[in-house]
Amino acid sequence: MSAPPPPRDAAAAALRAFSEAFGGTPDGVWRAPGRVNLIGEHTDYNEGFALPFAIDLAAHVAVRARADRCVRLLSTHGGGVVELDLDSLSPDGAPGWAVYPAGVAWAVAERGADLPGFDLALDSTVPVGSGLSSSHAIECAVATALSELAAADLGPEDLVLVTQRAENAFVGAPTGILDQSASLRGTAGHAVFLDCRDQRIELIPFDADAAGLAVLVVDTKVAHSHAGGGYAERRAACELGAEVLGVAALRDVSSDDLAEARALLDPVTFRRVRHVVTEDERVLATVDVLRSEGPAAIGPLLDASHASMRDDFEISCPELDLAVEAARSAGALGARMTGGGFGGSAIALIPRAAEAAVRDAVSAAFGRAGFGAPDLFTVVPAGGARRVL
Ligand code: ADP
Ligand code: MG
Repeated sequence: MSAPPPPRDAAAAALRAFSEAFGGTPDGVWRAPGRVNLIGEHTDYNEGFALPFAIDLAAHVAVRARADRCVRLLSTHGGGVVELDLDSLSPDGAPGWAVYPAGVAWAVAERGADLPGFDLALDSTVPVGSGLSSSHAIECAVATALSELAAADLGPEDLVLVTQRAENAFVGAPTGILDQSASLRGTAGHAVFLDCRDQRIELIPFDADAAGLAVLVVDTKVAHSHAGGGYAERRAACELGAEVLGVAALRDVSSDDLAEARALLDPVTFRRVRHVVTEDERVLATVDVLRSEGPAAIGPLLDASHASMRDDFEISCPELDLAVEAARSAGALGARMTGGGFGGSAIALIPRAAEAAVRDAVSAAFGRAGFGAPDLFTVVPAGGARRVL
C-alpha cells in the first residue's frame, strides 16, 4: 500500500485564501467537522435515537467582521467571491454553496443577534456530497464563528437549532438535527448518543483504534441529494405512519407494536415504519454493546441496520450494497451505508490487520461490477466545532 498523502492543513489554507482575497488577517479561524453516523438512520426526524461521531475531516472558516452590512464569501473550491447584503439575504440571492453561510447568517440574525457584515474564506477537507455532511461542516463552522463575532452567546445546543433553522427555512432541506449535533457536540474517541426528541446527548466511548479496529469509509461517488424527492418521500411516509398509529412520532412505537401496525398500514408504509422502529432499537442495543463489550462486538448490529435500509426503507443502491458485501467478505466485522442514502458512503468496521485486504476487495469488486472506483479512507472520532486560531 502506498503511503497516504500528508493531511491538508485546512486552517492554513483558509488563512491564505482569506488574505489573498480580502487582504490582511481574519479575526479568527473556526473549525467544524463532518460526521459519520455509526448507526441510527432516518430516525432523527422521527424523534428517535442516533449515534453519529464527528470525524477528523473538517471545514475551516477564516472570518473578519466588517463595519458595514456587506457579506463576502470565498471557498477554496472555486467560484470566486460572492457578495451579499446582510439585510436582504434570501435563498434566491445566494448562489451555490453561499446558501449555507447565508442561511446561517440569516438564522443567527433571526435570533436577535447583532450580527455585523463579514468577510469569510472557507477551506474544507470533508469530501463534498459523500454523505459525510460537508454542508453541515460549513454551517456549523460559520455558526460558531458568527455567534462569537456577534457576541450572541449561543452555545452548541442553540447552534444545533440555528443550523437546523438555516437548513429547513433557508436552504430548503427538511433535515433533522443529527449532523449538526455531531459536528457541534462531538468529542475525540466518542460517539454522540443523541435523543432527537429532547436533543439530549450522551458521549459513548468509541475508541476503535484502541480496540485494534478502524472505521473505513467507502465513498461510492454516487450522487445523493437530500433536497431530492427520496428523502421527503420517506419523511412523509413516516409522518403518515405515525398519524395512522396515533402517536406523536414513530419514536413512540416499539417492535412489540409492529404486528398491529402491519394490519393498519399499507405494505410500503409498514416497511418504512418497521425500519425506523427497529433502527431505534438497534441504536439502543449498540450503545449497550459498546458499554458492555466494546466496539468489536457491534458488527452484527451494523449489518442488520444495512439490511433494514436496503429492504425496508429502500434507500440503498447497488454500489452501497456491493461495498458492504465486499467489505464483509474480506473481514469487516460489520458494514452499513451511512447518511441519508441513495448514494454517498458506506462504513465498514474492520480489524486494522485486515485493512489492506478490505480495501483491495472493495476496489476489485467495484471494478468487476463496472462501477467507478470508490474513494477509501479511514476516519477517527474527533472533537467538535471550535475556534482554532
Ligand atoms: P454532503 O453534505 O453530504 O457532503 P450535500 O449535498 O448536503 O452533501 O452538500 C454538498 C454541498 O455543500 C455542495 O454542493 C456545496 O454547495 C457545499 N460544499 C461542501 N463543501 C464545500 C466547499 N469546500 N466549498 C464550497 N462548497 C462546499
Ligand atoms: Mg449535507
